[in-house]
Amino acid sequence: MSNAQPAAGEMIVTDEVMIQLAGVNKWYGQFHVLKEIDLTVMKGERIVICGPSGSGKSTLIRCINRLEEHQRGKIMVDGVELTHDLKNIEKVRREVGMVFQHFNLFPHLTVLENLTLAPIWVKKVPKREAEETAMHYLNRVKIPEQAQKYPGQLSGGQQQRVAIARSLCMSPKVMLFDEPTSALDPEMIKEVLDVMIELAQSGMTMICVTHEMGFARTVANRVIFMDRGEIIEQNEPEEFFNNPQSDRTKLFLSQIL
Ligand code: ADP
Ligand code: MG
Repeated sequence: MSNAQPAAGEMIVTDEVMIQLAGVNKWYGQFHVLKEIDLTVMKGERIVICGPSGSGKSTLIRCINRLEEHQRGKIMVDGVELTHDLKNIEKVRREVGMVFQHFNLFPHLTVLENLTLAPIWVKKVPKREAEETAMHYLNRVKIPEQAQKYPGQLSGGQQQRVAIARSLCMSPKVMLFDEPTSALDPEMIKEVLDVMIELAQSGMTMICVTHEMGFARTVANRVIFMDRGEIIEQNEPEEFFNNPQSDRTKLFLSQIL
């Protein structure tokens, strides 16, 4: 798999590209949160994004499914450009699953209902089929026995696995993870990372914001370091951790490793 990045601002178009950002800039009011972001993600890539708090990591991945709007530059997801066109936004959102730090499950719905809600109402999947798919993914995240419980009756690790299964029920082509383990008690982190590792091995294209550097080493094919709204450097994990180039990356790694 190639890690080649196109030159600044340049777009490349091939079947193998899943996500492409070219010259992306975003401001919150006066605050320049994303600065000239160029990023190409090929199908099947597993990207880890790390960097200090406030560096723009969440904003960046939220722009990829238009939970945030960028003001300049171009974002393409599986050949569809994200603009104000609502049809395109809907199309992209169907293909991109997202898992947040706080699991965002519906507390008044059972696990099974959480998993079948969007397939039934958004994708018009018949209820029975949606439930079969939901049970398939609950098996994959290893909690089929929790199907009839409510989120509040589950541990944090179990809730996060439900959130991952819920995304998978929509058959996404890409999964975005925003610090999925950082709200979990330490003993629950592994069970969520194991599910993510299995997902990576199945060939899913993934972008994960995480500070779990063990995960980055085993799963990522590329690690990206962001600081103050910019991509400072990126490399395969081995090189990234053993031979960081920028002083900012070195400082960051010395603080978290
Ligand atoms: P990270 O995920 O790397 O911690 P964020 O993308 O959440 O960074 O935030 C980047 C910067 O943008 C931070 O300084 C944050 O305070 C600011 N920010 C985030 N969301 C908003 C918002 N909705 N309005 C204004 N500023 C925001
Ligand atoms: Mg964040």
